[in-house]
Amino acid sequence: MTPTLTPPPETVAPPAAEERCDRCNAAGKLRVLLAEGGELVFCGHHANKYAEHLVKIAVDVAVAPDFVWRGNDLMAN
Ligand SMILES: [Zn+2]
Repeated sequence: MTPTLTPPPETVAPPAAEERCDRCNAAGKLRVLLAEGGELVFCGHHANKYAEHLVKIAVDVAVAPDFVWRGNDLMAN
């Protein structure tokens, strides 16, 4: 824990080890901050499956360090 370091509200952190995918309960690899508010957590499988949709609705995303998300390439294009 780093209690002195408070990120700005628009910044999201990658899913913690105990956080689970909203779709299948696997380990979370991607956190998505939605434009309408709220957050979603996806495992690697679902993060890539929904990548095209997520890049359209996400305000911010945070990817786990050990995961390469397909959506990063989509957002770069
Ligand atoms: Zn999943």
